[in-house]
Amino acid sequence: MPKAPHKVVIFLGPPGAGKGTQAERLAADQNLLKISTGDILRDHVTRGTELGQRVKPILDAGHLVPDDILIALIRDRLAALESVRVIFDGFPRTTAQAQELDMLLEELGAPISAVPLLEVPDQLLIDRIVERGKTSGRSDDTEEVARNRQTVYRDQTQPLIDYYSARGQVRTINGVGSMDEVYSRILDAVK
Ligand code: ADP
Repeated sequence: MPKAPHKVVIFLGPPGAGKGTQAERLAADQNLLKISTGDILRDHVTRGTELGQRVKPILDAGHLVPDDILIALIRDRLAALESVRVIFDGFPRTTAQAQELDMLLEELGAPISAVPLLEVPDQLLIDRIVERGKTSGRSDDTEEVARNRQTVYRDQTQPLIDYYSARGQVRTINGVGSMDEVYSRILDAVK
């Protein structure tokens, strides 16, 4: 059977924008592997691995885990794939991560297909995270840590919008609305 063509989607947007849920649906519909670095890190914390023990205080504070850790995680995941059909949720989050990802993808011959950017107003993001915190069990889903994650996003991750915009790859999507409404906007943006 011929290999499925490469497809790489990088989902950008602030914490609480709904990237995880939407990425899950897009992955199922388009036969992509969702790589959520937040999920991977939380899984390490839950299992109490060495990495999990190291990153737990960082996650709890809403800071970023060091780039070298993330890059090693992503390199491992990608190396295991036959064809690179992935949607990244929560990665890259810094310019250094984006540059490393470019190099990895170039080695693999898998160019970036689309960079959807989910936009949601700041206060709504906080409200959503606090609401999610009632059931998520995530220790970083509190108002205080959420505000911290917003600041980290603004300082470290927002520059990636310019990084990918300079190549004409960013598609801005209004993230306010029902799950279905937002999803159909995303489908339009990545097709
Ligand atoms: P959210 O988008 O709601 O903040 P994530 O699940 O994407 O949640 O991330 C949770 C936490 O995991 C982040 O606050 C950060 O500590 C860590 N993390 C996830 N992805 C990265 C990354 N690419 N670089 C550094 N830290 C990360």
